[in-house]
Order: sequence, then C-alpha cells, then structure tokens
Amino acid sequence: MTVVTRFAPSPTGHLHIGGARTALFSWLHARRMGGRFILRIEDTDRERSTDEYVEAILEGMAWLGLEHDEGPYYQTQRFDRYREVIARMLAEGTAYHCYCSRERLEALRAEQMAAKEKPRYDGSCRDRHDPPPEGVSPVVRFRNPLDGQVVFEDLVRGSIAFANAELDDLIIARSDGTPTYNFTVVVDDADMGVTHVIRGDDHINNTPRQINLLQALGVTPPAYAHVPMILGADGQRLSKRHGAVSVLQYRDEGYLPEALLNYLVRLGWSRGDQEIFSRPEMIALFDLKAVHRAPSTFNPDKLLWLNQHYLKTADPVYVAGHLQPHLARLGVDPDAGPDLAGVVRALRERSKTLVEMAEGARFFFADHVAYDEKAVAKHLGEEGCRALSAVKAQLAELAEWTTEAIHGVIETVAASGGWKMGQVAQPLRVAVSGTAVSPPIDQTLQLLGREKSLERIAAALQHVHS
Ligand code: GLU
Repeated sequence: MTVVTRFAPSPTGHLHIGGARTALFSWLHARRMGGRFILRIEDTDRERSTDEYVEAILEGMAWLGLEHDEGPYYQTQRFDRYREVIARMLAEGTAYHCYCSRERLEALRAEQMAAKEKPRYDGSCRDRHDPPPEGVSPVVRFRNPLDGQVVFEDLVRGSIAFANAELDDLIIARSDGTPTYNFTVVVDDADMGVTHVIRGDDHINNTPRQINLLQALGVTPPAYAHVPMILGADGQRLSKRHGAVSVLQYRDEGYLPEALLNYLVRLGWSRGDQEIFSRPEMIALFDLKAVHRAPSTFNPDKLLWLNQHYLKTADPVYVAGHLQPHLARLGVDPDAGPDLAGVVRALRERSKTLVEMAEGARFFFADHVAYDEKAVAKHLGEEGCRALSAVKAQLAELAEWTTEAIHGVIETVAASGGWKMGQVAQPLRVAVSGTAVSPPIDQTLQLLGREKSLERIAAALQHVHS
C-alpha cells in the first residue's frame, strides 16, 4: 500500500512553528515510506481565510523545501463534491434533515447546562416522520451511532477510545447548504486516499467523529498520529508572546531553511542524542513511533545555534544564494563586489544569522567606506598612518594577490617597522572596512582585490589628513 500523507492548513493565519512541524512530520513520513505528500488548503471558513495567508503558506512551504506531490487542493473548489456526498448520505439514511429552530436548540442547551449535563443535540429530528415545517431551511446532521465506542490506535499516543454516547449528531451541512469542517476533512481524506493523518493533538476530539463519518461512507479510516503541542519556556502553549513567529519571519530574520527544519525535527522527535540531521538523514531515520508523547518546549537559542552550524558548514555557494535577498534589503548590489561565496567563507565563522552576515558583508560592496570615527581615531593616528603607508607601498608591488602573500606583506611590514601584527592589521582594517572588526584582514583584502584595497587605503589616508 502506498503511504499518502497530507498537510491541511487553514489559511486563517501564517504558517507558524507548530504548523511547520506538522507539515515536516507528514512530509518526512511520506518520503521515508516512498509515499506521496498532499497539500490541501482548508479554506471553507471564508470569513477568516485570506489569499494573503494562502500565499504565505505556499511560500513558507516552498522555502522550507517541503515539496508536495499533489495539490494544492482547495476545499472551496470542491463544494460540488461535498454536495454530492451529502445527497448520498441523506439517500442512504446516514444523515438526516434537522429543522430544529435556534430557539429550541438554545433552550435545550440551557436546560442541559442547568442539569449539569454536557450540552448535546437530543436527536429530536433523527427519526421524524412529520411533514417538514414550512419556510424552514434545514441543516443536515450525521446519524452518529448511539451505542458502542470508537477505538483507534494512535501512532503516537497508543489506544484511544471515545463512547458514541458522548458524540453529537454532528451538523455536516448548514442551512445554506455549505458543508462543515469535520465533514470536508473526511470527504477529502477519503477521496485523496490519505493513509496517515498526522496532525496536532488539538484535533483529537475530532477524530472519533471523523472515523464514524468515514465508516458511514464505507471507507476504512486512515491511521492517525496526533503530535503533542509545543510549549514556550514558561510552560504555556507557544504563541506570539514567546516570539513564536511565522516561518517567513524566520526567513526574514536570517535563518537557513536547513536550520529550521533540523530544529523542527528534533521538536518532539529524537534518535539517541543526535542533534544534527541533514535532510537525507531525516528522511532515512524519521519514525513516527519515536515521536514523543509529551509536549516539547521551544528553545530559540538552540535554533540560533543550529543556524550558525549550518551557516558554517553548508556549501558557501548555497549560503550565498540565501544571502542575496538580505543584501538586497540593505540596498547592496552583489554584482558590485567580490564573489559572494568568498564573502560567505570570510564571514561565516562570525555570523549567527544571514542578517548579521549581510551587515558584515556590506563594506565589500560599498562605493565609499563609511568610517567609524572612533576606530579611525584609535587606529589611524600618526603611527597607524605610517604603518598603513608602508603596507600600501608593499601591497602595490605584490606579485601575486593571494591571502598568503598578503599575510606575508603584513608580517614583513610589522617586522621591519618594529610593530606588532595588530598595529599594521588594525589600521588596514579600518581603512578598507571603516571599522575595527572585519573578517581576517588578509582574506578581506584578497576578496576586495588589489585595486579596491589600494583605493581604500589611499582614501583613508586622505580622510585623516584632510
Ligand atoms: N485545517 C486544520 C488546521 O489547520 C487541520 C486539519 C487536519 O489536519 O485534519 O488546524
């Protein structure tokens, strides 16, 4: 049997950490089992769904690289199909029209509450034979079994049972004919051949209703895996208060998708004490059975640590591709400077995010160096300028413009002038970058190229002497 999983977000908000983890687990399970992964947009709540959120979800999924094999399907494009199934259920008697007025239902509810009973529909229209009241558009209710229980083997939580007596005759179509949430999920999961439903455990109460509906349709229910929630450091459910932001916000804050994926896969799943998982490793090793039952806690520091790890170890050409939009945001034209992969190599030891890397890379591409005057005052005094002039003369003569040769020049100049290395390197650094911090100076000069380096040194000397 081919495994089919799906991610079924409602576009009523951004793709956030919890949703992205559910998507990742569903995607991983499909990939691991050689199955198919479906993306389905559950947009029937027309008041709260927006096109912007749909776009943001698709963009977030694409950025994470969680590519789908089918879809995206949109529930709003499947209304004919839902109507067809409702008609069939009415014809087969697994659903019925309910004409109860709102007033009746409200009174019933109040009565049940007063008697300390759980409010539920009393089934008054379940077997009605009277002619329907005039002028009332009925809702359609599912004829839920009255007795017995619904039992399912949750792949994460083990056996779960619900008594049918606890379940209502769910409304599956409103009086205007539009289908309701649990019903559309069921029709879609059945039509799309979903074999594994992997979702947040906030849906656990929906599962017995959905299983009953599937059985009424003659469909074998899929396997379910309910993933526990994610908590903030204070033990509360993760929310915006914890800085829990959307996936795209992490992108904008300079995270690599690999870091976020690696972080998410470890959020509620583990394999020994391994922390680093490449994408192929995740696919090879992910196992739903090893998903934790207990909630996991979101730790932004660990995410940052992973980001730094991937910035340091990923292919610099790949990192350069992700750096480009951050440079663009700073108004930097990457064609106006050195090879970007080289810039990544120079900066990756000292950058926790791509935003930091872009800031650090800025000076490579600037037409004019912006001087930090404190650094100028500290390093480009009389002595500093003397060292700078000496190094400039030698750099101009250098046969080969390599990191090693440049390093050699700095050493020679320092030795011959009686300076420490830093007394040559720091003036040079301020001259070419404007500040006292930059990647290793030999590497920086090599990347900048001889012409630009000499131009900047000359401009710095002029700057202090003017
Ligand atoms: N649309 C639901 C949500 O966004 C998910 C439904 C499901 O996975 O069954 O919470």
